[in-house]
Amino acid sequence: MSKIGLYLHVPFCEKKCPYCDFYSIHASEEWLNLYTDCMIKRMQYNSFKLGRLADTLYFGGGTPSLLRGTRIARLIKQAKISFGLQDAEITAEVNPGIDLDDFLQGFRAEGGNRLSIGMQSADDRELKLLGRRHTFAQVVQAVETARRVGIDNLSLDLMLGIPGQTVESAKRSAAVCAELGVPHVSAYLLKIEPNTAFYQRREQLQLPDEEEACTLYEAVCDELERHGLRQYEISNFAKPGFESRHNLKYWHCEEYLGLGPAAHSFLSGRRFYETRDLRAFLAGQPPIEDVDAEIPAGSPKEYAMLALRLTEGLQDQKYSARFGISLPTHWKRSAQNYAHAGLTECWPGGFRFTRKGFLVSNALLAKILYES
Ligand code: SF4
Repeated sequence: MSKIGLYLHVPFCEKKCPYCDFYSIHASEEWLNLYTDCMIKRMQYNSFKLGRLADTLYFGGGTPSLLRGTRIARLIKQAKISFGLQDAEITAEVNPGIDLDDFLQGFRAEGGNRLSIGMQSADDRELKLLGRRHTFAQVVQAVETARRVGIDNLSLDLMLGIPGQTVESAKRSAAVCAELGVPHVSAYLLKIEPNTAFYQRREQLQLPDEEEACTLYEAVCDELERHGLRQYEISNFAKPGFESRHNLKYWHCEEYLGLGPAAHSFLSGRRFYETRDLRAFLAGQPPIEDVDAEIPAGSPKEYAMLALRLTEGLQDQKYSARFGISLPTHWKRSAQNYAHAGLTECWPGGFRFTRKGFLVSNALLAKILYES
C-alpha cells in the first residue's frame, strides 16, 4: 500500500493578517497545550484505525512555530510512532519575526528538515501594507537561523498583487529570494476573500486589475526561472530535486490525512474535512464528508484538474497506469484547439497548460474537461 501524506493544521496566530481567511485564533499557553495533547491522541486513534504509513509530514497554519520546541518535538515523535515517517520530508510553516531558536531546536531534534517561511515581500512598505508583523531584515534572520541549525531545504512565500506593488518591486522580491539561495519559492496572487479585513475595505485598496496581475505574475515567473528556480506548478518554483514532496501528493491526487481544525483529507476514495473550530476538534467531533457529485473524489476529472496545475501536465502514461484507459481523445483534441493561442502545449502522449494558460486555467479546464 502506498504511503500517505500527513498534514497537521496548527490553528494559532499572534494576530490576524487583514487578507487571511485561514482558520486561526489567538494562542494562549493553555490552548497550545490542549491542542498538542489532543493531536497526539488523534494521531494514535488514526494510526490504529487506518494502519497506514506516511512519508511526508506538513505542519501548516496558522503559525506552527508558536508551538515552540517542546510541543513540536512531541508531535513529530508521535507522528513517527503512529505513521512511520521513514526518510520523510517534514515541513513546518514559520513566520519571520518570531523567535525561532527554541522552535527549531525541537523541530530539528526530531528530524524536521524543511521550512516554509512566510516572507511575502522584500519591501518593508509592502509588508506593512499587508499587515505583516515582520520586516525583510527578519526574513534574512529567519533564513540564517534555519541554516545555523542545519536546515537548508527552505521555501519562501511571495505575495503578488499587494496594494501598490509594482512590477519592479515584485521582480526585486523574486530576485532577493534567489540571492538568499533558497531552493524553493511559492508565489501566490493576493485574493480578496470574504470575511477578511481587506474585503471590508476593498474599495479603498489600490489593487491591480486583472491585466496588471497577469503582468506581475509573468514577470515574477520569468525572474525566478532566470535564477534557476524552475516553475513546476502554477505557483511553485524549485531547484531540481527540491519540489515539495508533500504538496506534490495533492497535485498527483495521492492520499493524505489532514488532522486539526479545518484540515482536509483524501483517503480510501473519500474526501472529508474537520470543522473550522478548535473547540469542536478538542471535543472529538468527527470529520465531515466532502461530497461533490460533479467531481467525485479521485475521479478522472479530478485527477486531470490537479495534474494540469503542474508544468508536467496530463500524461497518457500516468493516466492509463491509474485508470487503465488512455486519456480521452476529446480532451486531447480540445486542448489542441488552444495551442495556437499559446495557452496549451500538446504532444502525442499528453498536454499541459503554458504560463499564459495558467492565468486562465479555470476557463480552460471548463472548456477541455466539461465542454469538449
Ligand atoms: S500569519 Fe499566516 S495564517 Fe496567520 S493570519 Fe497571517 S497569513 Fe494567516
